[in-house]
Amino acid sequence: MILFIEPHYDDFILSAGMYSTKKPVDKVITVFKSRSNVGGSRAFCNDLGKDYTELGLPNIDWKNPSLLFETEDLSSALDPLVKNATLILTVLGVGNFAHKFLRDTIIKRYSNIPILFFRDFPHAYDATKLCYIPFEEHSKDFQLVETLGNDTEYITKIDLFKKYYPSQKSLLWFEREQFSTPVQEEIYKFKPTISLW
Ligand SMILES: [Zn+2]
Repeated sequence: MILFIEPHYDDFILSAGMYSTKKPVDKVITVFKSRSNVGGSRAFCNDLGKDYTELGLPNIDWKNPSLLFETEDLSSALDPLVKNATLILTVLGVGNFAHKFLRDTIIKRYSNIPILFFRDFPHAYDATKLCYIPFEEHSKDFQLVETLGNDTEYITKIDLFKKYYPSQKSLLWFEREQFSTPVQEEIYKFKPTISLW
C-alpha cells in the first residue's frame, strides 16, 4: 500500500498534485487540523478514487511548539495506519515547522519502510519561509531522485487547488510570486550527510 501523509489539508495537492494523477497513491492521511480547507482533501481523494483518513491532531503552534507531547500523539495515531505501507510519501519539511516535525517523526519512526519526500510547495520556494538560508542548505540531508510535471500540468494542478480548496484563495495572493511561477515537483530520498565528528 502506497501512503501519502500530508501535514495539512492542501499539502498533498500542492506538493504532489502532478504525481498524484500519474503514479499510484492508495491512501492519503491528513495529520493536523486547520480551520480552513476542511473537506478539500477528502473530496479530492474521493474523485481520484483514493482512501482518505484525517487524524485531526491540533496544528503545531510555530511560536510555541511542544515537541514531546505531540511526537507521542503523532506516532500512536500513525502506527496502525502505516502498518501495511510498502512506500510512504510525505513532504520534505522545508519552510514550515509542522512539515519539518512530521518529516522528522516519519524518518525516526518508519526507517524500515521506503520513504520519498516531496519539496513543499509553496513554502520551500519562499525565501522568507526559508529565513533567507538557501534551500540546498535546508535539504542537505536529502538527495533529489526525480522531478516531474510540465507547465501545462502545473496550471492544471493549480486549477484543481482552486476547485478543492476555495477557502485557501488568500494563499494565491499571499504567495503569488510562488504560485505564478510554474515549477516541477521534486522528489527526494533521505541521505544523511556523513559527519566525521
Ligand atoms: Zn502545510
